[in-house]
Amino acid sequence: MSAYDPNNVFARILRGEIPCKKVFESPHSLAFLDIAPQAPVHILVIPKGPYIDATAFGAEATPAEHADFCAAIAHIVQQENLASAGYRLIANTGPDGGQEVPHYHVHILGGKAIGPMVSN
Ligand code: AMP
Repeated sequence: MSAYDPNNVFARILRGEIPCKKVFESPHSLAFLDIAPQAPVHILVIPKGPYIDATAFGAEATPAEHADFCAAIAHIVQQENLASAGYRLIANTGPDGGQEVPHYHVHILGGKAIGPMVSN
């Protein structure tokens, strides 16, 4: 696995070096609007810790970070009134997963029917 790049765009957002449209913040997590939304609601949730992807987060994050991240997603879903209609969580991971930003993040997509899980 490659090393975490501290200059990736989400690390820079966390340091306040570039702006974001913040949706929610907790001790270990930050959520903000995706800059290129693919649905009426498109929010990114990231851990504040330096985890490159879902594999690293799952293997290396503390129980407190895991709990905080899951609770952040649930909080945002309720805050944005997505729970009853539903939504999709996506964690693109690595080259085959199409991950562009090498800092773990989950996309929350909602506000309309999102469509097929995978299109080729
Ligand atoms: P992924 O392909 O899962 O790595 O997705 C990265 C996401 O980050 C894309 O949906 C981009 O639109 C989004 N993104 C990139 N730069 C920014 C930024 N500065 N602020 C908000 N979202 C961004």
